[in-house]
Amino acid sequence: MTSYRNFEHLQDIFASNESIKHGVKMTMSNFFFDKKMEDTIEAGHLAKFQETLTRKELKGVRRDTAIISEHAINQQANVVDAYQLIAPAIDTDKYMFFLYDVVTSKGGILETRKITGDLLNQEQELLDEYDASAIINATGVNAHETAGDESVYPLRGALVRVVNDGKRFPKVTDALAVTHDDTYGTPEDMVFIVPRNDNILILGGLVQPKEWELDLTLESPEIVRMRERCNNFVPGLENAEYDPDAPLVQGLRPFRGSNVRVERELRQRADGKTSTIVHSYGQGGSGFSLSYGCAGDVLDLVQEIEDGVAPMKMSVIMKAKAEAQAQLAVPVA
Ligand SMILES: Cc1cc2nc3c(=O)[nH]c(=O)nc-3n(C[C@H](O)[C@H](O)[C@H](O)COP(=O)(O)OP(=O)(O)OC[C@H]3O[C@@H](n4cnc5c(N)ncnc54)[C@H](O)[C@@H]3O)c2cc1C
Repeated sequence: MTSYRNFEHLQDIFASNESIKHGVKMTMSNFFFDKKMEDTIEAGHLAKFQETLTRKELKGVRRDTAIISEHAINQQANVVDAYQLIAPAIDTDKYMFFLYDVVTSKGGILETRKITGDLLNQEQELLDEYDASAIINATGVNAHETAGDESVYPLRGALVRVVNDGKRFPKVTDALAVTHDDTYGTPEDMVFIVPRNDNILILGGLVQPKEWELDLTLESPEIVRMRERCNNFVPGLENAEYDPDAPLVQGLRPFRGSNVRVERELRQRADGKTSTIVHSYGQGGSGFSLSYGCAGDVLDLVQEIEDGVAPMKMSVIMKAKAEAQAQLAVPVA
């Protein structure tokens, strides 16, 4: 499950010249750090940056402290290191409609219905009802119920949306991020300022583990603090006007402490048959980034079911894939 598969796909969508329809835009994305990346090795920023240098599909990769002065960010914001690259930014309102059209144009039928309890206990009834050969479980944080997986929990997040027309503050055209740092930071150290489309800018971010309620408002203390972090990072944002359609959006990122789960159901059914459920959940704050990679893996697993192959643990599959990849990397003399 790789985000590069997704990157290439989104790049193709952008190149199709229909980004207005899809909401996908290639955007210069800048990452700022309050320490040299070499001094925070455990946080993984340097490794991530070094990986970007090895991927020829990534354009505009550059590490340079000059990036700090090239942007209208607070030069006293204690930023000492930065890199940038061109990455897809998605207007998810448009993109979800686009995906809806893709599914329905291929004959998919969407039905809204709540399923209560563990899927394994009702698998055969559901297969019979829909005349299906497999069930894909992509229920996000609710997988704790539908897959009986107690390791899944929410990371509540929220974004403020403001008008980005250049009237109340200089228009922001690049994505600007100070990444959340598990190792050194507090959960409230993240700054995420991204043009959603030509007119709306989103301001974040917030990561609140195990908060289930979507009851945040613009006046909630953590939202006020989030705004203040953004205002401090890009002076002028304090004058921004809220997006009248949706000034605040919030959601539950489905997180699994260990890993994303893209795996067949390993538990045996009560009738002794092998389950035909394929799980894909726990993508946390990267559900869009990982979507095509995970979907490709799901497709492989469904194929396995159709071929009558027994289910394997995800760790075993990943080890086998890594070994196959290592073999491919051996130069042939
Ligand atoms: C503030 C915020 C910012 C984010 N930023 C990014 C970002 O920059 N990049 C990125 O890649 N990702 C981002 N994400 C994360 C991304 O939104 C999630 O990873 C993604 O939504 C997870 O998708 P999902 O389909 O697995 O789960 P969900 O979006 O939660 O969808 C699960 C679906 O299953 C349905 N469902 C659940 N239980 C049942 C049931 N029992 N019966 C029937 N249906 C059920 C739900 O109704 C829902 O439609 C962000 C999330 C938040 C909240």
